Amino acid sequence: MAFTLPDLPYAHDALEPSIDTRTMQIHHGKHHQGYTNKLNAAIEGTDLEGKSIEDILRNMDSVPDGIKGAVQNNGGGYANHSLFWTVMSPDGGGAPSGALGDAINSTFGSFDEFKSAFSSAAGTRFGSGWAWLVVDGDGGLQVYSTANQDSPYMQGHTPILGLDVWEHAYYLNYQNRRPDYVSSWWDVVNWGQVAANFAAAK
Ligand code: MN
Repeated sequence: MAFTLPDLPYAHDALEPSIDTRTMQIHHGKHHQGYTNKLNAAIEGTDLEGKSIEDILRNMDSVPDGIKGAVQNNGGGYANHSLFWTVMSPDGGGAPSGALGDAINSTFGSFDEFKSAFSSAAGTRFGSGWAWLVVDGDGGLQVYSTANQDSPYMQGHTPILGLDVWEHAYYLNYQNRRPDYVSSWWDVVNWGQVAANFAAAK
């Protein structure tokens, strides 16, 4: 069973003005579709068909050498974007409460300090990549960035919030101003979904 492009959980224009309509159309319909197609082409006829994307990425050692690069890039891209759409919402913004809010406060000191650490990870990732909030192997929270389409699953972590900082994610609206994109993105973070991801990962 091949991987399929997940539908957006809102309209293309729903995240305006943080993310513009045209960027959403191209990002979802072209870029994410492209990763999906190339992932399917890479794994066709292999033992990886039928496995979940998380299972594949958590076990990169068992991916055949001939397709390892394609799976790393396109499997990572497939998983990263599938998470990305769900952790944003036109009703987003604010701050998390409950268990996730408590864990963020105890790990980073405060929500503002968490935001600062995450924004720094997003801003200092050289070239293309992602900023992450993950649950690590000990059940703790970590913030870091990865290059290209590398997924936290590849190092045994579970991503619960991710921000795409490839230029294709923001260049039409923000050009070179990545910090402005990151700053505006906080207004659309779907903390309810991130909290659910946290609960599921623990
Ligand atoms: Mn992207």
